[in-house]
Amino acid sequence: MPKSTPRKRSPLFIFGPPVLLSILGFGLLIQSGILASPKLEMINEQNRISAAQGLVPPTLGLTDYIYPRLTIESANQPLVVVNKQRALDPIDFAPSSLVVMPSSKSLDNSRELVLASSAANALVLMAEQMHAEGYGQLFVNSAYRTYDYQVELFESKTRQYGLAGALVRSAKAGHSEHQTGLAVDVSVPAQGCAIMTCFGETAAGKWVASNSWQFGFIVRYEEETTAITGYSYEPWHLRFVGEALAAEYSENGIHTLEEFWSLPAAEFYPEEDAESKVD
Ligand SMILES: [Zn+2]
Repeated sequence: MPKSTPRKRSPLFIFGPPVLLSILGFGLLIQSGILASPKLEMINEQNRISAAQGLVPPTLGLTDYIYPRLTIESANQPLVVVNKQRALDPIDFAPSSLVVMPSSKSLDNSRELVLASSAANALVLMAEQMHAEGYGQLFVNSAYRTYDYQVELFESKTRQYGLAGALVRSAKAGHSEHQTGLAVDVSVPAQGCAIMTCFGETAAGKWVASNSWQFGFIVRYEEETTAITGYSYEPWHLRFVGEALAAEYSENGIHTLEEFWSLPAAEFYPEEDAESKVD
């Protein structure tokens, strides 16, 4: 019985799968590593914001794509992370450009407070959206604060609540997000609970928690994150981080910037850590 002739395999069958797999693998590497990196989008977003503010964006080298955390170190960067462990540098930093948010039927800025223009524009848009959806007029309780003002504020909180009480309610000067011009405290007076934790339970507070990311804001001090941020729940305190980061933060269920950037917890100031070790 004649043996059947072995089938001749086409070169495409022999070489096809490995070649296809390598192409696919290489494609995935590029996609996950470089081209589709959300960090790169953040750098681009940051450059757009800097350019819009008339600032010269830093020249980016390869290391910036590999170590994008460099963008959180400098006080004048839109993504700067400031907390009890990370003072602004310089400590008396003041933003170069600040704008007064215009009052309107959707936004009450009768105190004529100022923010960095990127954050100011975003807040105006957010207030318009809230108003259009029937949440009333957003009030700006606090926005940019100078180093000197923060010194006074911390002293006044210390007189009112004692040092321990002041430490969870207010930042020491040089450690406040308000000093960057990128943080704002808001309320909707018609709904009550202005600058109180119950703001989080109001319709406006819930809207802010669910939707502010679309405008580039995050609620910086959420419930149950005190051990990481060092602050108690502040549903009124919004930090502008830009739409790209805020979207990524929200989509991934992140609750603190420390977690987002894999930074150490900042419950205490370095001097408090030192004191606790001296018994
Ligand atoms: Zn605040």
